[in-house]
This record gives sequence, structure tokens and C-alpha cells, in this order.
Amino acid sequence: MGRRNMVGVWSRSIIALAIVVATTAPNAVAQDANPADGEGLVVDYPVFNPVQPPSGYVAALDQGTRRADGRPGADYWQQWVDYDIDVKIEPESALVTASETITIRNDTPHERPVIVLHLYQNVFAEGSPRGRSTTITGGMTLGRVAVGGVDLEELPPRRFFGQQQRGPQEPGFRVNGTLAVISLPEPLAPGGLVELDVDWSFVVAGSGGFRMGHLNNEIFQLAQWYPQVAVFDDVFGQDQSPYLGSGEFYTDYGDFTVNVTVPEGWLVVGTGMLTNPGDVLHPEAVQTLASAPALDTVVKVVSVEDREAGNATLPSADGWHTWTLEAEMVRDFAFAAGGTYVWHVTGAETGHEQGRVLIQNVFDPRMDHWAPATEYAKHAIEFFSDLILPYPYPQATAAMGPPEVSGMEYPMITFITHQAADRGLNGVVTHELSHFWMPMIVGTKEMAYPWMDEGLTTYNTSLAMADYYETPVTRPGDDRGYQMVVQMEMQEPIMGHADYAEHMFGQNVSAYSKPGMMLHTLRHMVGQEKFDAFYKDYAATWAFKHPMPWDFFAMMSETAGADLDWFWQPWFFGTATLDQAVDQVVPGSGSAEVTVSNLSSGVMPVEMTLEYADGSSETVVWPPSVWAGTRTKTATVPTSGDLTKITIDADGNYPDLDRTNNEWEAVEG
Ligand SMILES: [Zn+2]
Repeated sequence: MGRRNMVGVWSRSIIALAIVVATTAPNAVAQDANPADGEGLVVDYPVFNPVQPPSGYVAALDQGTRRADGRPGADYWQQWVDYDIDVKIEPESALVTASETITIRNDTPHERPVIVLHLYQNVFAEGSPRGRSTTITGGMTLGRVAVGGVDLEELPPRRFFGQQQRGPQEPGFRVNGTLAVISLPEPLAPGGLVELDVDWSFVVAGSGGFRMGHLNNEIFQLAQWYPQVAVFDDVFGQDQSPYLGSGEFYTDYGDFTVNVTVPEGWLVVGTGMLTNPGDVLHPEAVQTLASAPALDTVVKVVSVEDREAGNATLPSADGWHTWTLEAEMVRDFAFAAGGTYVWHVTGAETGHEQGRVLIQNVFDPRMDHWAPATEYAKHAIEFFSDLILPYPYPQATAAMGPPEVSGMEYPMITFITHQAADRGLNGVVTHELSHFWMPMIVGTKEMAYPWMDEGLTTYNTSLAMADYYETPVTRPGDDRGYQMVVQMEMQEPIMGHADYAEHMFGQNVSAYSKPGMMLHTLRHMVGQEKFDAFYKDYAATWAFKHPMPWDFFAMMSETAGADLDWFWQPWFFGTATLDQAVDQVVPGSGSAEVTVSNLSSGVMPVEMTLEYADGSSETVVWPPSVWAGTRTKTATVPTSGDLTKITIDADGNYPDLDRTNNEWEAVEG
């Protein structure tokens, strides 16, 4: 999802020019040795507050499903779920009726007596637990629920506690808020398959909904719309996180075939590729669509003229068309359908072996400020293919929608409010398309670890926007949201849960901009080249899998060649802040006595730029271990000239909140 205040931008050139902290120096005694020879990130004393992963993660390491270096183990496994769905939208009533066949392949070593389904639409039901206010639609009405072709009874409700998951119980299903628990007639054996059939309907939330909805009954954006199988993973087992509104999603991968029935003249785009264009579109439109991936210019599958002439689609005998979309290896499925949409397309080069991909933009031409979204999307897909991983899907779509969607990501499609314009529109398009990588390709547990998609996306977006506009990126610590939550004492840990924070503003900053800037700090500390290689490696290693934070930490520490627990603890698990100050400088012959204070709770290396009378300068780095047991450190720093000035963090690579105490200048005469 997009944060509401605009993302800052970061200068790539500043990073390129910065002197990178050495990470290869051997461990040195930091306490009394001269620290100014760049031990970098290595701390030579025991980390007394190490990161302790939860027991499920430790067990996964023991069982070989994950490795201590942060990679999937030889025995890594994941559940696989395919969906075949028929869905019809009746625009006037906003009624959606649908049926699905879900095929679960139990690629886990566990016998499964229970399957949990997400019924996200029940977040809009009266009485459902929620963490945010919303319009009430009545939620999801379930019709038939069957397993292996045999109908299941709805069982009387129980409170949703662990008891449901233990011991045998009668076959059937129970609904509790946004979850349904299905007790299978027979447990699903490892390696086995089970088919579920579900029929359902709901009314689409209009104003006051969120992440999906409709605009004047003319444009529908459907997500969280089908009963979806909850993840069963190697770390936490059966996920049964309710959808409460703030936290997002955690889903397994699979293939989808979705038949969307909408009135004649309506256009449909979504996750996946349209596989029956000839059934719904005029032959010229079919041809334009097919030719678009090869192009760098924008062409129109359906133009304003087509729309005005009533030629947006082929005519239909019964007034309805069914659009078939197919997607492989995706973790969710969303689509947009519009009776006022026009459809612009182009192509993008990704470097992926599948070749160039289709870029799509659907919008209401009465709001033609949206037209540039096609080019923004193209830039984003090409930039992120280079930064992270070649885009592996056949198409990428930006779809204009109601204000309620704000900016919301799904595989291959993003819903974005019609209110976004100009640079703001580019910012949202870029942010949401970055989510095609995190969490759509790198499938993290979003509600529990929102930073793993929003923080990384904030970082990705800052680089992409700087690239697009050739502007500098905001420095770590310059983010106003971050400064505000610190001042208001509303910080939440980056590792905090999206649904259960005391301060939701603090939670937002800790999911988005704070981890975003921490990644810039890490990139600076370990070196841009190493960091960028790590980033690609992380994405490729965990593509279509479920990395946990401790995997990320371990891979990053391996890249840095250092135990980074000193960094993760205060900055990811805690709410530390940084304020380093130069207290005193006593210049001598060939060296200077420098005293630096750590005035706040956070630990970082001390990076000092020394300037000399002849105009030259050099950078000296003290490792984080100088702060072991002290808040004030005095050390002898070798100098190579007539010292005129010392500045801590001159390039703004660290989130130092008070920069007024970062400078020392020699007094004239
Ligand atoms: Zn987002």
C-alpha cells in the first residue's frame, strides 16, 4: 500500500562519491587501539543483546528447511494452491456473485486435518473485528462449501482459539470474522491433493471501504474478493491471522484461471493475461494488444473515440462478456473492470528470458491527468528489473480507481486513486509497481513484518524516483514523518506488527520510511556494490518463497562480513535514535585528539570528514564498538595537514537527528 505523505528522494551521486566504510579489516581491539583505521562494522566484543529468532525459526534451521546463512534449506517446502474462479459483477447493485474450485497440493511433510480460508470481505461485515473504521456491506455470503465434491455443514461458531486446531472434530466449517476453518472429512496427507468448491456473493464497498471498491458504479476494483487458502509454512505452521484492516496479506503461490463476466462495453484487466481477447475485443484491438510488448511508444487498445462510438468491445447477444484471465505462479489475484475505461499499452525491456513485457494503463479519459501512468509504469518495471530482478511476469498494469484504494498492490496489477496526479501519480505508480517484487515475488508475511515489503519498497521507490527526475534522494534522518514520531515519542519498532501497534502513525513510519532509510544507511556502510549484489541475491534466493526477517538479517550479515546484531537490535527491534556530537578537538602535530559523544540511545559507526587548510580532506571511521561501555570517546586521529574542520556524517548517510552539533571548526589565528 502507499503511504499518504510523499516519499523522499535520495541522490545516487552522493552515495557514489561517499567514502565507504571498510569491512574487510581484521578484528581489532577497538577500546584502546586507535579506532581511526576503519574496522568498519566489525565489533570485537560479544554482542550481549543478540537477535534471538522465535522457536519456530530455530526449529526450521534444525530441520533443514532454512539455513543459518539466511537461505532456504535443502528441505525447504511450501504449500501450492491453484484457483479456478467464475465471477460476475452487476454494476448497478455492485453485487458480485462467484464460485471457485481450489486445488490444494500439500507439498508439506505434515498431515493436514484442517484448512483455513481467508474471507477478507467479512472485514466489511457488521460485528467483525477491525482495526479501522469502514462502511458496512454485510460481508461475504457463503453458499456451497464442498470438499472433494461432498458438501460440508456450517458448524456452530466457536471463539477463535488454538483449541480448534487440536484433536479430531467433525467435518464441516466454522466462520469467525474474516476466517473460516474447514475440518476435512479425512486429513490431507503429505503429497496429497484436495479440491474445495465454494460459492459466494457480496456487495462491493463503495465510499468508506479500503484497498478495493468502486467509483460511481462505473469502475470496479476487486481484491480480497475470493475465499483464499491461508498459508501453512515451515516456521509458524498454520497461519490464521485475521484480516483486521491495517495489516496486509500472506499467501502461497499457485496458478489462477478467472472468468470475469461484466456488461458489454466494459473492459477487464487483472493479474495474469487475457486468454480470449478475440471473444471480447475488436480485431484491431486484439492486434494492438499483441504488438504492444515490442513497442516503446504508447498505443491505445481502446481509445476515447472507441469509447464514444460505443465500440470499446465487440457487441454481445445477451449484453454480457466473459473475460478469461490466466496467471501462473502468483500469490493473489485482483482485477479491475470499468465501463468508462480507456486502455493504453506499451512495452518494457526487463532482461528476463521471457522477453519484453506488456505495460497496461486503464483510466477514465475524463481524468486524463492519468495518461502518463503508462510511461511511469514502464520506467518502474525497467528500473526495478535492473535494481532487483528481471520482471518475471508477462504484464504489468496500473489501473485507475476510487479514492478508497489509495494505492494498492496485487500481482501484475495495482489499483491507484484517480486523485493522484503528476509527480504524485508517478510516486504512487512507482511505489505500487515496486511491490510486484516485494511482496508479490518475494512472498513475505506482510501483516507481521510490514517493513519487508513497505520498507524495501520505500527504498526502491526513492532510487527509482531519483533516477526518473535526476534529483537527489532525501538523506536518512531527513524524513519528516520519522522526525515527527520521534518528537512525539510515538516510535514503534520496525519489527512491529501492522495490526497491533500502540501508535498507528509510528507504525506507519516504522513500516515505510524508517526501514527505507535504514537500508540506505546499510548500503552506505557495507558499500553500494556489495549491497546491490546482496539485494539481487536476496530477491532471487527468495523469489516465490517465504523469507522471514531472520533470513534477511543473516544474508545481510553474511554480505557485510560481520555480525550485525549491534545494528538490528537498536534499529529494527528497538526504537533507538541517533545523535552524535563532536565535543572537542585538540589539534597536534600529525594528529588530533578528538572527543565525540553519543547523546542518544542508538549505536552507529562515527564517520568524520577531516578538512585541511590546503583544501584537501579525508574521511575517518570509528567502528560501532567504540561505544562499548561509554557514551563519550576520545581518541587520537592521525592528520595529514593543517586541520580546519571536522564534520560527523557530512554526507548524511546516518539518521542523525541533530546535526547542529556535528561540526568542529578551527578558530582563526
Ligand atoms: Zn506500499
